[in-house]
Amino acid sequence: MKPLIAGNWKMNGLSDDAKALAEDLKARSAAGLPACELLVCPPFLHIAQVAGILQGTEIRVGGQDCHTAGSGAHTGDVSGDMLRDLGCGYVILGHSERRADHGENDALVRAKAEAAQAAGLVPIVCVGETADQRAAGEALAVIARQLKGSVPVGMAAERLVIAYEPVWAIGTGQTATPDDVVEVHREIRKLLVGLVGEGSDRVRILYGGSVKPANAAELLGQANVDGALVGGASLKAEDFWAIAASCP
Ligand code: PEP
Repeated sequence: MKPLIAGNWKMNGLSDDAKALAEDLKARSAAGLPACELLVCPPFLHIAQVAGILQGTEIRVGGQDCHTAGSGAHTGDVSGDMLRDLGCGYVILGHSERRADHGENDALVRAKAEAAQAAGLVPIVCVGETADQRAAGEALAVIARQLKGSVPVGMAAERLVIAYEPVWAIGTGQTATPDDVVEVHREIRKLLVGLVGEGSDRVRILYGGSVKPANAAELLGQANVDGALVGGASLKAEDFWAIAASCP
């Protein structure tokens, strides 16, 4: 399974910044991609520009969210069909920042994942515990609940990506220990058997949470870690590329 290194640009950068970052990545890709699939997920407003710059490269483009409906009276929202129309192949769903900022729950994330798949997108469904939940020994139970609630049953393994992102590790510089990552990813892999069935071992499980060039090789070398979801470090082409080059 080819690892997936996905960059979540979040709500960062003006048009010129997105252009410069995409052009830098394009220039690096001319010599060939590291041994992974590379994906960038810019803010909605920059997707068309970034997709245009990256056209003809092997770097893929994705969205950071989508609505459950294909179109209609949903002010401020964006549909999976619109993302697909701009050349997106993936969409991040259920990121902890959306769960916190927009009150997204598991049922909504599942409905979005179904809509994304119907639009021809591969959903990257995010799960992860808070610091309090981990301290209370509830991490695995929380992740199991989120996974069972957020992932549509019977989804084709190749059309689904899971991202384990401990909330306390996102943007904090704190990273889960390799042992914790292995434990959680093993549990997710087990749960996927019941959710996806046949071929569940082909679902890629990404780790996310302060992945940097300095810790990427160790994290990406762990069992059942099939790539990374990268926030802050994906805004610097050099760091993002170094993370991608750390894939085993
Ligand atoms: C993220 O937002 O998905 C993320 C992992 O952020 P960071 O790498 O900055 O912790």
